[in-house]
Formats: sequence, structure tokens, C-alpha cells
Amino acid sequence: MKVTVDKTKCIGCGACASIEPAVFMINPEDGKSQADQNNVAGREDACKEAASVCPVGAIVIEE
Ligand code: SF4
Repeated sequence: MKVTVDKTKCIGCGACASIEPAVFMINPEDGKSQADQNNVAGREDACKEAASVCPVGAIVIEE
């Protein structure tokens, strides 16, 4: 499963990082979330939850 964050949509609310901090972190440089693909394996459900909670639909999941 591939997880990416569309930085053009992300508003940096931090909800994704709260749900799954091993995958999502707010980049201090731009204040927006980024996903660490290396940590997705085994955390797919949390990534999907983060995507469903994101208020602007910025988390893109590809199976
Ligand atoms: S939940 Fe969505 S808007 Fe909020 S920081 Fe994560 S990707 Fe950005």
C-alpha cells in the first residue's frame, strides 16, 4: 500500500500524526504533513483511518 500526502491540500492540522505518528509527521519546514512510506507496512488500518479523518482529503492511498 502506498501512502502520500498532497501538500497542496494539507492544512497542517496534525490529525494524521496524532493517529499514526510512525507514518505521518508535520514537517517543520513547511508546516505540512509528510508520510514515511517505510513505516506503512503493518499500519495500513491506521493509515486508512488517518485518510478518512483528514479534513481536506489530502492523504492519498493506493492499494
Ligand atoms: S490530517 Fe490532513 S490536513 Fe491534517 S495534517 Fe494530516 S494530511 Fe494535513
